[in-house]
Amino acid sequence: MAALEVVTQMHYGTEKAVSPAAEAIRHSGSLCYNCVKFKPGKTDNCPAAEDLFMAAKKWNLAMVVAQCPISMFEAAEQNFHEQTNPFDL
Ligand code: SF4
Repeated sequence: MAALEVVTQMHYGTEKAVSPAAEAIRHSGSLCYNCVKFKPGKTDNCPAAEDLFMAAKKWNLAMVVAQCPISMFEAAEQNFHEQTNPFDL
């Protein structure tokens, strides 16, 4: 298996290592962006998503959520980022 492609990009004033493959699906392919419980910036945001957001903020990371317990996930009709695009999480 080939090594993952990693490039260097500036994001909000920080030079970051970026996986173009993961970045390409960060919004469209993340379960959180496709779940009705994902409400960043609101008091009723999913607590798991809130914890992930706080960790991402603390460590200056961007992530894709690829798995979530079926007992928690609730499919949205529209991708959150396409609906609102309020944050570049
Ligand atoms: S239930 Fe899962 S997919 Fe939905 S917002 Fe929470 S962590 Fe993300």
